[in-house]
Amino acid sequence: MSAQEHPLGISFEFFPPNTEAGREKLMHVRDALAGRQPRFFSVTYGAGGSTQHRTLDTVRQVRQSGISTAPHLSCVGSEKAQLRDLLAQYREEGIDSLVALRGDLPSGMGGVGELRYANELVEFIREETGDHFEIAVAAYPECHPQAPDFERDLENFARKMKAGANLAITQYFFTADAYFHFAERAQALGVEAPIVPGIMPITNYTKLARFSDACGAEIPRWIRKQLEAYGDDSASIAAFGEEVISELSQRLLEGGAPGLHFYTLNQAEPTLKVLDNLCG
Ligand code: FAD
Repeated sequence: MSAQEHPLGISFEFFPPNTEAGREKLMHVRDALAGRQPRFFSVTYGAGGSTQHRTLDTVRQVRQSGISTAPHLSCVGSEKAQLRDLLAQYREEGIDSLVALRGDLPSGMGGVGELRYANELVEFIREETGDHFEIAVAAYPECHPQAPDFERDLENFARKMKAGANLAITQYFFTADAYFHFAERAQALGVEAPIVPGIMPITNYTKLARFSDACGAEIPRWIRKQLEAYGDDSASIAAFGEEVISELSQRLLEGGAPGLHFYTLNQAEPTLKVLDNLCG
């Protein structure tokens, strides 16, 4: 079975570009990926509302493809009134899906806000808008970096799902067993909604290492060592990355993952290559 044929199929995540050239490029990327019939696109959001307008602008542009596009929405640093206005605006625009997050406040930026955790945001969205939105939330197979331990993180995740989320998308990871273990444990806690693996194509080792440190995603030693050995040889990094991520994706789908969500970083080619390598 190919990724597209899975119950939730595939989805692609973008970030809001901050230049005109970036916007133009994203429209080409969107068109190239739209050809793979994703179930939805999503567009990230800066915590505290720092990219609120850029997120909505980007959602509007991406939606012109005719494919459902979900804005990410974070609650940290925001008041309920601001979130209420934003939800109303999304409804008016005909948006019917969201990725609901706590987010992380940039250092030195204001107070936490009225909603402290993503489960409170999900509850708030349901109270305010009923069943209008399909809500996706974040999951961490390798544990959220601020969680006291795995068990409590898992309980917090289950609470968030029970608050009314329809699906979860995971932080990226490179060890399939971390995903299978997490999904099994979540199901044992009563989580029935799909948990979709988040897939990060490997294209640049320095950026990947920095980002992984910050978000708590572990790069296995054998992958790290191989990437380090390639130094500045970006063609070899891309080829090795394609192989590793294609095998990971294949294993996840064969093991029962309900779809794949790609962190595209606004590039089409690395994701398309992985999809081409998947069977079917
Ligand atoms: P939560 O689910 O609230 O969890 C945060 C921490 O608090 C965890 O350690 C958890 O164990 C703990 N916790 C949760 N609930 C409770 C509770 N009730 N009581 C006590 N502790 C609790 N960031 C952005 O800024 N913009 C984006 O667009 C964005 N998109 C993302 C998309 C995906 C798919 C993923 C996986 C992450 C994304 N992030 C984004 C990053 C995310 O905002 C951070 O990882 C953030 O630190 C946590 O957000 P969360 O929604 O998972 O938080």
